[in-house]
Amino acid sequence: MAEDIEFYKRRLARERNARKQAEALIEQKSLELFYQAQERELALRESEERYRLLVESSPDAILVESDGRIVFANAAAQHLFHADSADVLLNRTMTELAAPACQAQVATAIHELKRDGSSRAGEEQALRLDGKIIDITVTRLSFQYRGNRAVHMVARDISERKELETRLHYQATHDTLTGLPNRNLLVDRLDLAIAEARRENRRFMVSFIDLDRFKWINDSFGHNAGDALLQSVASGMSACLRESDLLARIGGDEFVLLLCNTSSEDESVSVLRRVMAAVNHRVTIDGHVIVVTCSAGCSVYPDDGDTADALLRSSDAAMYRAKEAGRNTMQLYNPDLRSRFNERVKLQTDLRYALERDELDLHYQLQVEIHSGSIKGVEALLRWKHPELGNIAPSRFIPIAEESGLIQSIGEWVLRRACAQNKSWQLAGIPPIRISVNLSAKQVNRQGLESQVAQCLAATQLDPAWLELELTESASMDDPDKTLTLMHSLRKLGVALSIDDFGTGYSNMQYLRLFPVEKLKIDGSFVKGIVHDTGCRAIVDAMISLAHRLGLTVVAEMAETANQVSILAACGCDQIQGNFYSKPIPADQCAELLSAGRMSELNSLGA
Ligand code: C2E
Ligand code: MG
Ligand code: MG
Repeated sequence: MAEDIEFYKRRLARERNARKQAEALIEQKSLELFYQAQERELALRESEERYRLLVESSPDAILVESDGRIVFANAAAQHLFHADSADVLLNRTMTELAAPACQAQVATAIHELKRDGSSRAGEEQALRLDGKIIDITVTRLSFQYRGNRAVHMVARDISERKELETRLHYQATHDTLTGLPNRNLLVDRLDLAIAEARRENRRFMVSFIDLDRFKWINDSFGHNAGDALLQSVASGMSACLRESDLLARIGGDEFVLLLCNTSSEDESVSVLRRVMAAVNHRVTIDGHVIVVTCSAGCSVYPDDGDTADALLRSSDAAMYRAKEAGRNTMQLYNPDLRSRFNERVKLQTDLRYALERDELDLHYQLQVEIHSGSIKGVEALLRWKHPELGNIAPSRFIPIAEESGLIQSIGEWVLRRACAQNKSWQLAGIPPIRISVNLSAKQVNRQGLESQVAQCLAATQLDPAWLELELTESASMDDPDKTLTLMHSLRKLGVALSIDDFGTGYSNMQYLRLFPVEKLKIDGSFVKGIVHDTGCRAIVDAMISLAHRLGLTVVAEMAETANQVSILAACGCDQIQGNFYSKPIPADQCAELLSAGRMSELNSLGA
């Protein structure tokens, strides 16, 4: 029992000892921790102090926004935002401090920054507390602040640099005397206007304006007087314009007006007239009353040019014409071209209705054998009697018909009318004659010509032997292989073929040999020169012998005089189609001549 008591006493003493040791250890450790914590706090405080000093003395404005309000702003921020003290900036938002135009952009940037924790740098405009807007460069980054996402902003005023840049840009793009845009800016704006007009399929006008006799004013009254005049003229002209118009001074007394937002050319012209009227005034210089006027030339995009340079050149050229026309006037670029363009548009519109309004007709021109005077054929030639403009030559409207695609229906109509006419002559007992019909290059190149011809022959019941199709030399040689195939299929129908306007294109002699044609029609331009031009005669002579060697019959077009006909006869030409024998005439008159079958003795030279 006593042993047990002793045992427990020892054990108790051991445990007491152990507890004491543990307590001493804990005390020592916590002291260590305490000292460490104290050291860390000191270091933190030192580092915070360093940071605070750095931030406080930074030349850049530094602000911190947390929980939607500014919680810190340094002295530079106070200075940047023109605040009485840094505290005045507290509790505002960063968005509030942005210029109104930038506020939405700043709000989005801050929102994104908080979301993705990244940083953003750029240039924007800030709103100072005194209401002034300034340009700043700004960097914002997001960080964790007391458990919240906060935004740290560093900003610097760059208004001076921006102003300098703006000033330099202004100087590079404006004329210092009048303050108007200069050539650089004009060309930039012209390029933009062209791109826009091209996209929107619009037209616009460029006018070149030059003061009349400015050099004389400058020389007589001195440069100061000249400069003052230029300034007053520039401000007078500018007063007539809208913001979207551009008036530039591109040289001494040369101005260019760019009108992009007018609804028509007429409106542009009337704006220009107003501008010219503003120039037109009396000034008194050194007691002399001087009437100031100007001359203007206009070009229109895209008709008169599709680059800035081309448009300026065209309007400049037109301005010179205005000067020639007696000054104080305006001139559109190349009015001949313009009116021809307008006429073309009108003809194209009217041609669409020509068939249904029965305005088209065929005339017929005889092809006469020189040595016998006998009529060997007739060519059908299209005529258009326009209700207002009268007779219009095929050389004017056929290209329009080709361009607009109308040639297909018109060509078919010609073919049918010519076949029907020939058939009706035959039915009237007139000795059968071959009728030739012109084919446009557009008809030749289109699929289905053979079946169109076959249908025409079937519908009119004309024997194919009495139909001849004329293909021009240039259309035939465009794609000679294709032409060759077409010619063979047309020949299979039983119709004859000839090459028209020979000598005006570039013939490939190999193909000329291969083409299944019967006739070569020498172009009228060679016949014209045959009497006086020995070179011309030599060419005609060579063409005729070449054709004969290839087994072709030669028809000379446009022979008007006995002299021409006798030279052609001497060269061995077979037939003549020209006014010497007969002009193209209406069907009834032609029928009379065809009934005779032979031209009068007077005209048949070779008979
Ligand atoms: P082309 O086929 O070479 O027709 C001959 C042209 O010469 C005709 O002009 C005719 O009137 C003209 N001519 C004939 N003899 C004389 C003359 O002695 N002196 C002068 N100065 N001219 C003469 P036109 O009728 O004005 O036709 C011109 C061209 O238009 C034709 O030349 C032809 O290429 C084309 N053309 C005419 N009708 C048609 C047609 O129905 N379809 C197609 N695709 N083209 C046609
Ligand atoms: Mg012809
Ligand atoms: Mg011809």
